[in-house]
Amino acid sequence: MRYYRCELHTHTTLSDGKMTPEELVERAKECGYDAIALTDHNTTAGVERAVKAGEKAGLTVLRGIEWTTFWGHLTVIGGSSDVLWRDITPENVAEKIKRAREKGDIVALAHPRRMGYPVCSGCHCDYDIESVAGVNNYEVWSHYYPNEGVAARQQREQWYSLLDRGLRIAAVYGYDWHNRDDIPPSYAYTYVGAENADADALMRGIKSGATFITVGVSVDCKAVVGEKEYVTGSVLPTGEADIEIICNPIKDYRSDKPTRLIRAELHTDKGVVSTPLEFGKKVKIKTAFAKYCTVEVYGERKREEQLLAITSAFYTGGER
Ligand SMILES: [Zn+2]
Ligand SMILES: [Zn+2]
Repeated sequence: MRYYRCELHTHTTLSDGKMTPEELVERAKECGYDAIALTDHNTTAGVERAVKAGEKAGLTVLRGIEWTTFWGHLTVIGGSSDVLWRDITPENVAEKIKRAREKGDIVALAHPRRMGYPVCSGCHCDYDIESVAGVNNYEVWSHYYPNEGVAARQQREQWYSLLDRGLRIAAVYGYDWHNRDDIPPSYAYTYVGAENADADALMRGIKSGATFITVGVSVDCKAVVGEKEYVTGSVLPTGEADIEIICNPIKDYRSDKPTRLIRAELHTDKGVVSTPLEFGKKVKIKTAFAKYCTVEVYGERKREEQLLAITSAFYTGGER
């Protein structure tokens, strides 16, 4: 298994994006992605064009759509679901998410804490969190300057509150890519652990929770219990594990690069454990948790201390 660079939230001229499906694919390839999901607002009109262009360019394109409703946005990836966005309401959204997942699709809560009306109608999630807690993924970071600002902080807090309750929801980033971005503003990547970069393998990787989000550092992280090793998203036989972490700079990251690492933090339902971290140096931290354990990487970027990466959780016990 290795980690593939993916962007799971993109738009084209078939909704309000500035690139055609072909241009988006070409640009994604130039920017070093292994895969993208096309998630135009309430339409799949560009999907086949993008898939075709992707086949030519050697870029995997996952079929998707962004359910764009007055109460909030959800990306749905996989192309297997027959759910109509038109009749989604706060009363039936839970049922719609369940239906899409049963059909094999992946549902993510998109930019839940972005500014809503009148800045961007529906961009703030006004669904009751209970009714959307059945998603696979949560956009802990989104759009430009993903790890900075109030929305990022609130989204991270809300995601952790869901993990605290025993829900298994993976962390993803949503570029919400609309423009060519020749001079890229600050942005992040979602990496997905998979057997290969085929659509099916990546779908399995995302569903299994083998993801991390980052502004410029790779996070190779596993849990070791006895002789066995686990990637994030795994359910461990026990919460007593050694978490091994190795971080390196992502060389072709185009925004402000992290200059040094400071520490790794393990976030669990029992609290936070921290250890110093340097580029290229493996660290091992012993941990005990009852429900989940994530890894956060802190370092220096833009001459200040920043949260540089977050992994999805390891889990133990508990039922979803
Ligand atoms: Zn949106
Ligand atoms: Zn969007």
